[in-house]
Amino acid sequence: MTLPALMNTYGRLPVSFVRGEGVRLFDEQGKGYIDGISGIGVNALGHAHPGVTQAITEQAGKLLHTSNLYNVQRQQQLAESLRDASGMDNVFFANSGAEANEAAIKLARMHGHQRGIDIPHVVVMEQAFHGRTLATLTASGNRKIQAGFEPLVRGFIRAPFGDIDALESIANNNDSVAAVLLEPIQGEGGLHVLPEGFLKQLRELCDRNNWLLMLDEVQTGNGRTGKYFAYQHDGVLPDVLVTAKGLGNGLPIGACLAHGKAASLFHPGNHGSTFGGNPLACAAGQVVVDTLNTEQMRNQVSEVGNYLQNGLRERLADAQHVVEVRGRGLMVGIELSTPCAGLVKQALDQGLLINVTAERVVRLLPPLIISRQEVDALLDILCPLILQWPAQSDAA
Ligand SMILES: *Cc1c(COP(=O)(O)O)cnc(C)c1O
Repeated sequence: MTLPALMNTYGRLPVSFVRGEGVRLFDEQGKGYIDGISGIGVNALGHAHPGVTQAITEQAGKLLHTSNLYNVQRQQQLAESLRDASGMDNVFFANSGAEANEAAIKLARMHGHQRGIDIPHVVVMEQAFHGRTLATLTASGNRKIQAGFEPLVRGFIRAPFGDIDALESIANNNDSVAAVLLEPIQGEGGLHVLPEGFLKQLRELCDRNNWLLMLDEVQTGNGRTGKYFAYQHDGVLPDVLVTAKGLGNGLPIGACLAHGKAASLFHPGNHGSTFGGNPLACAAGQVVVDTLNTEQMRNQVSEVGNYLQNGLRERLADAQHVVEVRGRGLMVGIELSTPCAGLVKQALDQGLLINVTAERVVRLLPPLIISRQEVDALLDILCPLILQWPAQSDAA
């Protein structure tokens, strides 16, 4: 028997796309789909964005890669733009979210050792998702992601998400903590939003205890929530900030940014990446930051995001099995009272791409350029499917 050529890591939907345009994708038969998930929050500017296409075509005609043995002009320029967009001091470029989180975890450990902690710990959250490398799967708060890969990495302490008292109690009982790492809105974990004012309280707690505040904005960053980064809603600045997904609009790129004391921890030899920040990925990233870090775009994401959330709330108001519609900007979750993974295939058949996470939360991460009319078209397909879901759930 011949095995499939691809390792069996994904249960894939029976569709294959051949081209895209804005918020739409087209399959081999020419059938069109509204993209409500953007390749998991990646295609922030939509598909075949002319600015991205031009930038990467031009760059590809000149230079793809030189390595970090040399100055990389594009990388320097993107670092400066990200610094302007974030208020952070400096940037390390990686190729993915998990890799960028690895850089953050290494910064935390260096900070801990500088403080004289022998075995520095990072506090991480229940239901967190930080990636699939050994350290980041250990940091993730989901047994399914960890099972089979023991021994896990040492040096993590788990806390409930959004519970400042629990973190105070860890601070009072443990002097081996160097940092806390969390997502401002948990994406994979089920679209959980932090309580109002939490990040401000956490900032103070970190300052009092000399912990690094490290935010994983792999999913919430790059304009997704209506600010360039989600912490900017709260008027705080983290010590370490991680992003990826939307940053390259489909080119693989991740970034770990640092501020203040965290920005001078690394020295040559401490960390590196062959591909990280290569000219091609940075050319795409530059268009993303230049396009999304404008007041007009931030406002548009907030407005269209509210329009989407309000539309869902109105149309689903009478559904007993809809627990909550929540999120920020164009990062939206619809929690049902029953498992609903089967909705993904039903939506696909009707020409809409969605995702279900944490078993019963429909997750929407459409391209940030989505218009109100396109939101209407999305709602016209999605809401009837959700409304008739409980009757169907046995069959699915
Ligand atoms: C997707 C994601 C990651 C992992 O990113 P990869 O690029 O898949 O390694 C990490 N953190 C968060 C919050 C994510 O959403």
